[in-house]
Amino acid sequence: MTDFDSNPLTNPYSPAPRFTWPDGKKCAVMVCFDVDGETTALSEDPALANRLTTMSQCTYGPTVGVPRILGLLKHLSVPATFFIPTYIVENHPRMTEAIADAGHEIGAHGHLHEKLADLDPEEEEEILQKSISILKKFTGTEPLGYRAPWFEINPGTPDLLQEYGFLYNASMMGDDVPFLHDNGLVEIPGQWMLEDWEQFAFNAEPAWGVIPEDCDKVFKLWWREFEAMRHYGCCFVLTLHPWLSGRPSRVQLLEHILSKIQEYGDAWIATGTEIASWVLGNPSARREVDFDRGGSA
Ligand SMILES: [Zn+2]
Repeated sequence: MTDFDSNPLTNPYSPAPRFTWPDGKKCAVMVCFDVDGETTALSEDPALANRLTTMSQCTYGPTVGVPRILGLLKHLSVPATFFIPTYIVENHPRMTEAIADAGHEIGAHGHLHEKLADLDPEEEEEILQKSISILKKFTGTEPLGYRAPWFEINPGTPDLLQEYGFLYNASMMGDDVPFLHDNGLVEIPGQWMLEDWEQFAFNAEPAWGVIPEDCDKVFKLWWREFEAMRHYGCCFVLTLHPWLSGRPSRVQLLEHILSKIQEYGDAWIATGTEIASWVLGNPSARREVDFDRGGSA
């Protein structure tokens, strides 16, 4: 599979796993889709509504990417977590319904993909309330998971999420297994390396991204990280945007990653709420490594 595989080590470094996962699984896998669609452009500048080509590239996510991705997830029987700005929920209600009907989790992701750092605490709370009520209206339930637009949260965000009944946040990057905030909110951390924007985003004007990467190269990047996270007992959080990863070759890339993970048979592929529930029900599952929190290598 990789260059690493053709050069196996006789005595690999194998510390105790970072986390104890259900049924003796070696690692956890959370497949996330941030269905930003048109809010990708509109949250940057509402005037982009008149840039029909730019807008159509964003619309491709909800209208073509999501159906293809849902088909693949059904084909593989893989559960996923979709974080959807509620502007998208309102404008693509049947898409939202199809995601929920397929049994996937739907989490909150702002209304118009607002950057939390630009909001004062009152505005942040107002948008959170609005997104919860729209999600409840369209899906019948209040969200338990939250992913901040651009992954960035404010100091008050964890308490706000706990106040509004969230089980977990999936926005921070300071670990590779879940942890608890001081208020008991679960954090399921991600990382930029396992995000598709850096690999695939491109728009001429406004300028987004650099050069769309070769899927073979991205497969190698993500697969190598998965194998290492499996080795160390981590939580592999892959974050994809349907307007990028719904394109044909990238859906096949995802199919290869998920199929190879399933072939191992020892990775727990779960939704955010399933992972958060496991974390809350098994307080000793996490092995601390931070020396300043009493951990050890
Ligand atoms: Zn987003």
